[in-house]
Amino acid sequence: MGARLDALRALQNVELQIVDIRRQLQAKERLIAAQGGKLQGGEGALGAEREQLNRAQREFDALDVEIKARSGHIAKLREHLNSVKTNKEYASVLQQLNNEKADLSKLESKALELMARVEEARASLGAHETALVGERRRLEELRGQLESTRNAYSKRLAELTAERERAAAGLDPATLVHFQRLSDRYDGEALAEVLRPSPRRDEYICNGCHISLTAEIANALAVRDDVISCRSCGRILYLGKK
Ligand SMILES: [Zn+2]
Repeated sequence: MGARLDALRALQNVELQIVDIRRQLQAKERLIAAQGGKLQGGEGALGAEREQLNRAQREFDALDVEIKARSGHIAKLREHLNSVKTNKEYASVLQQLNNEKADLSKLESKALELMARVEEARASLGAHETALVGERRRLEELRGQLESTRNAYSKRLAELTAERERAAAGLDPATLVHFQRLSDRYDGEALAEVLRPSPRRDEYICNGCHISLTAEIANALAVRDDVISCRSCGRILYLGKK
């Protein structure tokens, strides 16, 4: 053990805290993204629903216009019936009147059905709009939580960044690059302690990947300040303080 491995351990200690904060922020960002996606999906569905409602409403309006026209025609046929001269003409107009009335009745029941559909669609739309208001509020809440977590951590992150710089100052650039690469790969865990599971045996393992290590590695670390990597996981090895 020596200054270099101590600096690397200090660096890892800082790095782990930074990674932990970053992970917490990322988890919140993921929640926001998921909520945003949910909201977008909901808004799309709502748009389609609105379009459907408008179509049903237009269909109903057109039907209403037709019903009014037919009712007007029926009123005219009734008047006409009072002024016919012959039985034959009377029978013909009566026939027309009955046909018109039968058609009107069909149109009216269709209009009733349509009206029920419009009302149902409107109620469903209203319920979905209310639900979406809740989802929008949830998104705002999540954004607020991220913001306050960011604020809460900003001071700590600045401190950690300064600490990291102090720890990095004691290391050469190549070792720093090596450390950073391992840190990126192992979420800040660039180092692994060399463990000796039994004090009675001269056996060692890497605490990062649990592969067995030779006694030479442990001996070298005990006397030298070298950067030695685990041959399996690549983490920089160090001996725990006795
Ligand atoms: Zn290992």
